[in-house]
Amino acid sequence: MINAQHHLLRLNTELEQVRQCLLTTLSSSSNKSHHSLAETLHKNNPEQWLELTQKQLGTEYKDIIVRLEQLEAAVCQIDIGQYGYCCDCEEKIDSQRLNADPTAQRCGNCEPRL
Ligand SMILES: [Zn+2]
Repeated sequence: MINAQHHLLRLNTELEQVRQCLLTTLSSSSNKSHHSLAETLHKNNPEQWLELTQKQLGTEYKDIIVRLEQLEAAVCQIDIGQYGYCCDCEEKIDSQRLNADPTAQRCGNCEPRL
C-alpha cells in the first residue's frame, strides 16, 4: 500500500483553504442568495458542502467546486486504502506525480491519452 499520510496532510490543508475561499467568495458575492448559502454552509458539516452547493452555484464557482470534489475524492481514497492508483490502468501513480498534485487520478501513461 502507498504511504499516503503526507499526502493526506497536504490534501486536508488545501481542503481547508478551498472551503475558506468558497465561504469568502459567497459572502462577498453581489448575489444575496449566496450570502444565505454561506450561512447554511457555515452551520453544516463541511463534508456536506458539496451536496449543499450543488446546482445552486453558477459557472463562476465551477473551478472551486471541481477542486473540492477532487480533494474530497482523494481523501476518501486514502480512507479506503485505494489512494495513488491510476483509475484507468490501476498501476501505482508515481510519487513525483502525487507530490505535484496529490489529487492526481491517472498515471503518466494514461493521463496524456485523455
Ligand atoms: Zn494508468
